[in-house]
Amino acid sequence: EAKDAGGSQYYVYHDEMYQRVAQRVMLESEVRQALSKNQFSLSLQPQLTAKEKKLYGLEALLRWHHPERGMVSPDDFIPILEKSEHMVELGYWVIRQCFEISKDLRIKGYTDVRIAINLSAGQFIDINLPKYLISLLDEFAVPASGFELELTEQTLVTDIERAISTMNNLKELGFTFAIDDFGTGYSSLAYLKRMPVDVIKIDKSFVFGMLENHADYQIIMSTIAMVKNLGLIVVAEGVESSAQLRSLTESQCDIIQGYYFSKPVPEGEIFSFLDSQIVDGYWKTKAYN
Ligand code: C2E
Ligand code: MG
Ligand code: MG
Ligand code: MG
Repeated sequence: EAKDAGGSQYYVYHDEMYQRVAQRVMLESEVRQALSKNQFSLSLQPQLTAKEKKLYGLEALLRWHHPERGMVSPDDFIPILEKSEHMVELGYWVIRQCFEISKDLRIKGYTDVRIAINLSAGQFIDINLPKYLISLLDEFAVPASGFELELTEQTLVTDIERAISTMNNLKELGFTFAIDDFGTGYSSLAYLKRMPVDVIKIDKSFVFGMLENHADYQIIMSTIAMVKNLGLIVVAEGVESSAQLRSLTESQCDIIQGYYFSKPVPEGEIFSFLDSQIVDGYWKTKAYN
C-alpha cells in the first residue's frame, strides 16, 4: 500500500514537472519567434516629481502581444525567460528601443527626462553589456545620464562583487542606477552603502495599503527617511490615489509613479500623451484633485 501511494505520488510529481518543463520549452520557442515577428513592444510609465509635478522619467515596460493568448503579462513570461539565454537577447532589444526613445525625447524637447530600463540578473552579469551600452551611446549620440538602470535586490545577490564592479564601470560612463522593488528581497544595508546607487524605488506592495495598514505605512516612512538621509532619491511606485499622493508628498518622497498619474502608455502614443498632459512644463492637475 505504502508503495502504491509512493508510486502515484511520483507520477503526480513527474506530471507537474513535465508540465512545467513543457511550458518553458514552449514559451522559449515562442519567444524566439516573437522577436522576429515583432510581437514585443514597450509601454512607458511616467514618473513625476511629487511636489512640482514635473516629468522626471519614463519607465520602459515590456509588452508581449501573443497571437492566441493576447497580451501576456511580463510577470508571467519574464521569470520563465530568465532561466534561458533568451532574456538576455530580449533584454538587448529592450535596451536598443530605449536608446531610440531617448533620442526621440531629445528631438521633441524633453531633454531632462530619463528612461528607466529594467535589467534582469542574467543581463546584468553578461560580460557584453558594458560594450553594448557604449556602442549605443556612440550610435545614438545621447548621454548616459539619460538612463536609469533598474536592478532588483535579486539581481544583486547573484554575484554581489561583480555587480558592484559593473555598476562602478557603468557609473563612470554616466549611467544612473535604481534599486527596484526595494524591501521585497534580501537587501543588505551594508551592500547598499557600497553600491553607487542613485535611486531607491519602494515596492508597490507597500504603497497599495499604506493608508490602511500601519506596518506598511511605517515601512514606507522609515524607508523614505533612510533614503533621504543617505542623500539618494526615493520613488514610490503603485500610487493610485490622491490620498496616497498627499501622504507621500508630505513625507518628502521625491518621485511618484502609479496609475494615479498614468498607466503605462504604448510607445507609439507617448508623445501625443505627454504633449496633452504637460502644460508649461507641469503635469495637468486633475479636476477632482
Ligand atoms: P517593475 O519594474 O516593478 O514595474 C512596475 C510594475 O508595476 C509594472 O507592471 C507597472 O505597470 C505596475 N504599476 C505601476 N503603477 C501601478 C499602479 O498604480 N497600480 C498597479 N496595480 N500597478 C502599477 P508590469 O508592466 O506588468 O511589469 C511587471 C514587472 O515585469 C516589472 O516590475 C519588472 O520587474 C518586469 N519587467 C517589465 N519589463 C521588463 C523588461 O524590459 N526587462 C526586465 N528584465 N523586466 C521587466
Ligand atoms: Mg522597474
Ligand atoms: Mg518595481
Ligand atoms: Mg515589481
